[in-house]
Amino acid sequence: LDAVRRQYRIGNWEINVTASVGIALADESSTSESLLRDADDATRLAKSLGRDRAKLFDEALRAKAEQRMATTSALRVALDRNELSVSYQPVIDLATGAMVSAEALLRWNHPDRGPISPAVFIPIAEETGLILPIGGWALKQACEQLSQWQRVDPLMSVAVNLSVRQVMDPDILDQIRRVLKSTGIRPESLCLELTESVFMEDIDQCAEMLAGLKNLGVQLSLDDFGTGYSSLSYLSRFPFDIVKIDQSFIRGLGTNPSETALVAAILSMAKALELSVTAEGIEDQTQLIALEEMGCQLGQGFYLDRPMPALEMTHTLTLPSHTQPHPAPPAPGRGRAGRWPKAADPKGGEGNLRGRRRAQGDQDPAAGRRHGRPGPGRPAHGRARHRRHGEGEGQAHHQGRPLCHPCS
Ligand code: C2E
Ligand code: MG
Ligand code: MG
Repeated sequence: LDAVRRQYRIGNWEINVTASVGIALADESSTSESLLRDADDATRLAKSLGRDRAKLFDEALRAKAEQRMATTSALRVALDRNELSVSYQPVIDLATGAMVSAEALLRWNHPDRGPISPAVFIPIAEETGLILPIGGWALKQACEQLSQWQRVDPLMSVAVNLSVRQVMDPDILDQIRRVLKSTGIRPESLCLELTESVFMEDIDQCAEMLAGLKNLGVQLSLDDFGTGYSSLSYLSRFPFDIVKIDQSFIRGLGTNPSETALVAAILSMAKALELSVTAEGIEDQTQLIALEEMGCQLGQGFYLDRPMPALEMTHTLTLPSHTQPHPAPPAPGRGRAGRWPKAADPKGGEGNLRGRRRAQGDQDPAAGRRHGRPGPGRPAHGRARHRRHGEGEGQAHHQGRPLCHPCS
């Protein structure tokens, strides 16, 4: 490692090189394949610990590798055994409190191990190629679900995550065309979320694939923005509609000045590029208020709503009472339905979004929800879907594009 770790001069460039080493020791049961696989696991650990180091394949790594192998074989049959499902997390227009979209998130409920996190199984699915059938299934589920929601609410939209492998799959365009056709949803009501890892691929091929997706009329969103390797110029070079600021930047909002400054910079850059911005992972009121004050348009996070099964989402959508298939209102005390009234404070409601709206003069709870008439502080695209059952009767109206409008 010391020998490798020195500076090389190549032409005018100074190059720093480090190595990561994985060591596996042979015993009588070892084969060349098992040794290489173990050494590979140890190398991966060395890299994940920051590179420039050597790691020995040991019992802990063996247990992890075995667990991973068990997870991989269980994942191969999970789809056929109906163990996978899709949950939905609302995306909220922060200016109006209206839900404008929902992100589809895969869930795996293993019969013995219980729920297994996407953070565990998505990387395995990507590595093994299982992401193609699984991701394709999730896309179809989300679009079919959306077509049902759109029967009641034509302006509902969903966002679906696509792995790099799916984006680079030659069949992806046809697959999306087919699902748009079979479900009849409008292309612009489907948003595809890609991460910056897509830029690690051949950049020309990536540009071609993204242009192909965009030509289908769907929206493209850059997920986990700020955590990857993207050059800022990619934001203007590729046809994204939305940037999702990663949760790691939201955590310190309102308390950490440098993170607050970073978010403000992303917002102003997005505005200049006419991109919408969604803040991910909003976990408390301080973050929510800071985002709202900075003019961030869209937000998503446990503080607003947790991901929920499709049926619960159907209940959460505010449906006109005569078409509401399930009369049960969303349970009070969860999500926004429970949060806003709880946060009402005696000093004129400054402590919560709805209270502050009222303090600004929005006295009429139905204002902005009436047909085609934006109320004070409520743009025409806003819609108070999230109000509790029986709370106001104004029929929602929504003129704008479902998700894509520059941050204002
Ligand atoms: P993501 O696309 O960035 O999704 C957001 C993740 O943040 C979700 O985790 C969501 O549950 C979580 N989250 C939302 N609000 C909060 C919050 O306030 N605090 C915290 N701590 N977390 C919050 P989840 O469902 O575990 O998914 C993790 C990742 O797995 C997703 O990140 C996405 O990259 C991937 N994933 C999930 N479903 C799919 C899918 O259908 N296809 C593909 N390719 N990837 C998926
Ligand atoms: Mg996402
Ligand atoms: Mg994300």
